[in-house]
Amino acid sequence: MSIPVLMYHHVLPKNGFICSSIENFTKQMTFLKENNFYTLSSNEFYMYKKGKFKAPKKSVFITFDDGWRDNIIYAYPILKKLNLKATIFLVTEWIDKASEKKENFEITYHNDCKKMVPENPNKILMSWDDVCKSSDVFDFHSHTNTHRDFYFNQSSWEDDLYNSRQTIKEKLGFEDKHLCWPRGYFDDKLVKKAQNIGYEIFHTTKRGINLADNKLLHVNRLAVKKDEKWLKKNLFIFSNTILGSLYAKIKPQ
Ligand SMILES: [Zn+2]
Repeated sequence: MSIPVLMYHHVLPKNGFICSSIENFTKQMTFLKENNFYTLSSNEFYMYKKGKFKAPKKSVFITFDDGWRDNIIYAYPILKKLNLKATIFLVTEWIDKASEKKENFEITYHNDCKKMVPENPNKILMSWDDVCKSSDVFDFHSHTNTHRDFYFNQSSWEDDLYNSRQTIKEKLGFEDKHLCWPRGYFDDKLVKKAQNIGYEIFHTTKRGINLADNKLLHVNRLAVKKDEKWLKKNLFIFSNTILGSLYAKIKPQ
């Protein structure tokens, strides 16, 4: 058995680049609910990977990257209504900046979002207040401090990894084990650095299966596209060890 890990970024009124429409997201989550899929918390997924949590046969781990405010505005109510769980990987410096000044939410698609991060972060990014208020549905982990975009400050990789973990500890009160690599980029040296800082489990952008094999260095994730039919097909493929491995070889990204 393998547990598929879904990777989302934005949920907004229309489909777009790394963006699911509200309609498609609703259909996908309703499909999970109606077909009795169990949505794991990040800690359950970690324990599953270590072979210490027996996940139900139909399990899925839902993740969102970056910490966009649309996740709170649009994805949160849908997940809450259906009683499903998900994890958000936060770019901690962006969330700090978004928490400094309150602004009205603006529907903004990915490329414009990235342009707005330095000037109007709260219009498009969640604040620490949003993080607290949505923690009945979401749990939160590190996606580094700067996303290596350096919108506010330059940073070495060490500082980026350390500062993010430190912020999570200060704001959320736990030692973070989970790291999601920005843009999926990593190498062996970076993994070693991150392990020295205290991270244990690493989330990539590579497609593939996830076994209970105690190998925590390469969690494979599926960039979610389209609607519930796409989801149904991909959950079928990536829940199956043999089928999922074959598909990941043919199309790794
Ligand atoms: Zn990202």
